[in-house]
Amino acid sequence: MKLTILVPAYNEEGNIDNIYKNIKNVFNDINYEIIFINDGSTDKTEKVMASIHKRDEEHVRIINFSRNFGKDAAIYAGLEHSTGEYTAIIDADMEQNPKYLLEMLTFLDKNPDYDQVAMIIKKRKSGSLIKRTFAKMFYKIINVLSDIKFTEDASDFRMFRENVKAAILSLSERNRFSKGIFSWIGFNTKTMEYEVGKRTSGVTKFNFKASFKYALEGIIGFSVKPLRVATIMGLITSLSGFIYLIYIIVKTIILGVDTPGFATIVCVVLFIGGIQLISIGILGEYLSKTFIETKNRPIYVTKSKVGFDEEIL
Ligand code: UDP
Ligand code: MG
Repeated sequence: MKLTILVPAYNEEGNIDNIYKNIKNVFNDINYEIIFINDGSTDKTEKVMASIHKRDEEHVRIINFSRNFGKDAAIYAGLEHSTGEYTAIIDADMEQNPKYLLEMLTFLDKNPDYDQVAMIIKKRKSGSLIKRTFAKMFYKIINVLSDIKFTEDASDFRMFRENVKAAILSLSERNRFSKGIFSWIGFNTKTMEYEVGKRTSGVTKFNFKASFKYALEGIIGFSVKPLRVATIMGLITSLSGFIYLIYIIVKTIILGVDTPGFATIVCVVLFIGGIQLISIGILGEYLSKTFIETKNRPIYVTKSKVGFDEEIL
């Protein structure tokens, strides 16, 4: 198999047929397979996929999850089943046009010293202004906090060789933040620009709340610096407390006992209480991730597979 194209899809009933036709039009003379990963869709996505498989058994395979596990889990499942010399990841909604897959493939064919082609957004048009501003902020913050470099406007839209696939699969963590994983593994990566298309049907699954949660997961997953922030805040408050204590002692010795300032006490108690709670919260975030990882649950659960050699029901 020359190329495996992974298409994670969650409630994309109106898009599957379209993306399939577009991929097919791009690759008519190449040995390729499409693996649709149905991430626990509650609409007719599964049915639409099945009917496409019936029409084109040679090229189409399907993995149905038992529930929604998230796009990153879907990518992982796809990679585990990919048999291609090259593997590509593309969204189901046509925001990423399959025509770019051919560009990536040609590039990898011509440049054996490159392992991966990653597509970056030419001009971010999709999403609201608020979402774009937050995306910008997120990349600024994560680049300060994390040791690895995150490229702004990077996407999961990419194609890579088997060595990259093996590296991604070797990172078997449960809290999967693909953008981080892609940069963490390294490799010689060529970036190309792509024009974001219009979603042909349905709505985005990454609304503001989901994106915020995802961004937070990225920071927690790829940096331990927030833990250090707690330590630094603790050090600063203890030091200020100590300096204030000396000031009070000296003042009492020189001027005698003063009436206590309730306002000051309340402020200090609230301030320190706040810092303590924030620190515990940060600690809790890391602890919860550790908790999930140590349980060692599978990254996804398969309900059924269609079109693979050994099928399970
Ligand atoms: N997706 C998925 N599981 C999820 C959420 C999204 O498989 O839990 C898929 C979705 O069907 C689409 C791709 O991931 O093919 C990108 O999602 P979406 O278009 O909603 O995100 P956006 O492009 O707005 O960032
Ligand atoms: Mg999209």
